[in-house]
Amino acid sequence: MNIHAVPDTLTKLTRLGDVTLYEPAGDQPQRESRRAKAVAQLDQLPCITNVSTPQGAMPVMKTMVTTACERNCYYCPFRAGRSQMERVTFKPDELATAFHKLEQSGAVKGIFLSSGIINGGVTTQDKIIDTAEIIRNKYHYRGYVHLKIMPGAEYDQVRRAMQLADRVSVNLEGPTPERLNALAPKKDFYDELLVRIRWAQQLRNEGLRASTVTQFVVGAVGDTDLELLTLSDQLYRQTGLSRAYYSGFNPVMDTPFENLTPTLPLREHRLYQASFLLRDYAWDVEELPFQGGGDLRLDIDPKRAWADLHLLYAPVEIMQASREQLLRVPGIGPKGADAILAARRTGRLRDLAHLRAIGIAAPERTAPYILLDGRKPPQQLPLF
Ligand code: SF4
Repeated sequence: MNIHAVPDTLTKLTRLGDVTLYEPAGDQPQRESRRAKAVAQLDQLPCITNVSTPQGAMPVMKTMVTTACERNCYYCPFRAGRSQMERVTFKPDELATAFHKLEQSGAVKGIFLSSGIINGGVTTQDKIIDTAEIIRNKYHYRGYVHLKIMPGAEYDQVRRAMQLADRVSVNLEGPTPERLNALAPKKDFYDELLVRIRWAQQLRNEGLRASTVTQFVVGAVGDTDLELLTLSDQLYRQTGLSRAYYSGFNPVMDTPFENLTPTLPLREHRLYQASFLLRDYAWDVEELPFQGGGDLRLDIDPKRAWADLHLLYAPVEIMQASREQLLRVPGIGPKGADAILAARRTGRLRDLAHLRAIGIAAPERTAPYILLDGRKPPQQLPLF
């Protein structure tokens, strides 16, 4: 393994490259992008990325303690033995100081810290925690910190990471033990990963506030949308998971998966749409319109596919529907449903223009699926 020791931390951060592709950290990873606004020469650092966080969108330093790794996950550019990958390693103080300087300069407003695994998950977790301790205790940083939980990390380490962080990630990678084994043969689905998501929930129940997210690598090993969304739903309901990320597989040269077909970005998009229906709209997995093979249709969003089957011939009466029924209508989200309920208390909603006036952005999308005061609305809004 080729680990260089280079004194200039910013040079090392530059050589680290853009880990954004492999370590999504925002609420909408497809929107993660380099900072648009330059700050001196620091905007050149590939580790600075705009991400959505619970505190809003902000530039975040996304980095790894080391890009060396003793595991051999088949899809990963950092896997052991991949000779084309230059390895970069930081000491906790070095990385914390680099973050402090970037944060003081105004270039970043938070940090996402991950790592390859060297000398086991426990040793690696210590280095992540040590870095966060320095950031919090030596530099008195009170802003956004997102820490990765390593496979095999101990309970007390998860607790300490959650005391230091606003958010922790436990990446499951595959939706079943079999799929994980096909992606990452040295990771254990239950003992190394899933149990740590449960610990995080236990620790929240004891008063810690850090949220938990996970990531799946989608499309490399035959995983289906049904598998991915079934597990996501269980995690949302049973472990308080804040967010599942679906990262479409992209082949990396000089890995065992280099000749596999990349996953279409549209599949990621449909998974996120369905995942939001489970998490935010209280849908059950069984209600999602899967096709025979267990995947969602790519040509239509899952909410509209469901509405075409169930609402075209049994439209929702906007003046009488419950909040849950309103949330089934394409074009009506939680804010729209609440606005309709509020508007109903003071008057009648008789046409699409009324819906637009109370904040439904595209009421024409709702038209095929609703009745307004007993009547089917026209499918197009009048121009004047
Ligand atoms: S443990 Fe992480 S860094 Fe190491 S090969 Fe697997 S995915 Fe890559």
